[in-house]
Amino acid sequence: MITINKDKYYILKSKNGKCYLILLTSKKSKGKKHKKTCLKKSTCTKCQKKCLKKCLKKCKKKSLKDYTKVTIQVPQPQGEKNVPTHMYFYLHKSFTAKQEQRIKGAIRAVLLLWFDHLNEKWDGGTNTGISQLALCTSRYATKNFKPVWAKSSVPNAIAATNLAMNQLTRLIRENGFKKSPPATIDPRNSTTIYATTASIKGRVPLSLQINPKQLDNTDFSDLKVTGSMLHAWLHHAGWKDPKTTNYFISECPMCVMRDLKDKNPQVRDSSFYKFFD
Ligand SMILES: [Zn+2]
Repeated sequence: MITINKDKYYILKSKNGKCYLILLTSKKSKGKKHKKTCLKKSTCTKCQKKCLKKCLKKCKKKSLKDYTKVTIQVPQPQGEKNVPTHMYFYLHKSFTAKQEQRIKGAIRAVLLLWFDHLNEKWDGGTNTGISQLALCTSRYATKNFKPVWAKSSVPNAIAATNLAMNQLTRLIRENGFKKSPPATIDPRNSTTIYATTASIKGRVPLSLQINPKQLDNTDFSDLKVTGSMLHAWLHHAGWKDPKTTNYFISECPMCVMRDLKDKNPQVRDSSFYKFFD
């Protein structure tokens, strides 16, 4: 039970994956009893919090019924220990089978980029190699190398790419070993693939919101979906927008969208970053 106003008491209940507040009017006696035993004591806030936490937990558990569990195999990069064999996502049931395939394909493609980067950096054991992704990004990215959680500065785009891919290793591990909250993928009505920027380094769920209409858009090629997915994951890794030319969070996934090739002066950057959120 929780209280909103001084003299109004509510019971918190979960039904069909939603939380409801039920005003305690007809059950006054129960309310008064509870008021005496709990609400007036110093443990009152604690008791309410416990109740709310329990209810929200119940809601969260129930709401996963609206999702399909998607299991993705994780490639094993050289020199990297303790990498889970699989990652798990909870895809909202409203996505079509074709849209589901595109989403799964984009996740696999991002994992492959991460895998290639780590192998190229490992370089047979030196771990000083520069990956194709880092090399391409370094040609164009000049701003915002540092993620929000980093204490020290990041000198250049190669260091930023290495840091981002190492942070992805952490996010992949925590997802695969179920250390972070479940990663849900929900539909959204506008833009493309949305993710919030993580302010912390650990236990960040890889949850996304994806516009299903964009997945059906023929202009949104597989490379573009992969770049858009990487941009969203970079937000999870702690990098911030702006999503325009020169910025790391934009140039790195734009390299992916160009298949790691140099920029073509005939093609405007905006034709790529319009697919970033
Ligand atoms: Zn963004």
